[in-house]
Amino acid sequence: MKIISTPLELKEQLKDEKRSIGFVPTMGALHEGHIALIKKAKEQNEFVVVSIFLNPTQFLKGEDLDKYPKKDEADKKICKLCGVDLLFFPQANDIYGSDEVSLLAPKVRGYVLEGESRPSHFNGVLTVVMKLLNIVSPKRAYFGKKDAQQLNLISLMVKQLFMNVEIVAVDTVREKDGLALSSRNVYLSASQRQEALKIPTSLRSATAMVMKGLLDSELIIANMREILYPLDISYVAIVNREFTQVDKVEIGNSIILVEASVGDTRLLDNIWL
Ligand code: AMP
Repeated sequence: MKIISTPLELKEQLKDEKRSIGFVPTMGALHEGHIALIKKAKEQNEFVVVSIFLNPTQFLKGEDLDKYPKKDEADKKICKLCGVDLLFFPQANDIYGSDEVSLLAPKVRGYVLEGESRPSHFNGVLTVVMKLLNIVSPKRAYFGKKDAQQLNLISLMVKQLFMNVEIVAVDTVREKDGLALSSRNVYLSASQRQEALKIPTSLRSATAMVMKGLLDSELIIANMREILYPLDISYVAIVNREFTQVDKVEIGNSIILVEASVGDTRLLDNIWL
């Protein structure tokens, strides 16, 4: 596995690459969720590039950029074991200069839910994903359904800016007890981890309601809020695949989303119905 840290070197390396390139962008501290993306990329492409870049522009002031878990050596080993062909491992000054051009998230979809509590977050996400896609020029790029709004906005960017890449969505990987894997789970104490299980439990209960034909969003959300109590909830919402809030679940076109904090740790989860 080759490890490259500068965009120019990477572009040079890939400029004559004829094999299909699958690309998995990450912020490191890799876990089984990331590995599922890499495996999917391996299945569907002849050459797999993973990036590990802790993107500063998607963190707001006061968020956990400085304490975000770093596991560089373990991450390199995981990539190698997973058969990654090329690891892109840049530093912030390899990606950003001063007086930067940047992208703006759409005014509606970029500023609801996650974008409401973190107002410039998606500008940073879209800008870095655009830069990474331009550096790697993959045929396909892989993103987790766990970050449903991020996936939706990246798909929208690719469509609206007429970019030549296929965005592939990968199902959320969970621990045996249902907790969605996240690099931030390491912040949780044993008792907080137990509390955090209220999140997947609330989503399972919502799914059970839908299966019984109870489709009313207000009722489902009220039930989920009861289960989540006393977690600090940022939002519980039901949207369609265009990310517009809906009054009724429509099977095949709905996503139920939760963001809640356990202690200082913000956790995201959702279920696609
Ligand atoms: P991150 O390193 O947290 O920025 O995540 C990199 C990619 O992995 C994103 O596309 C995430 O949506 C995806 N991802 C994170 N956690 C999971 C998970 N538990 N299951 C599937 N994909 C995930």
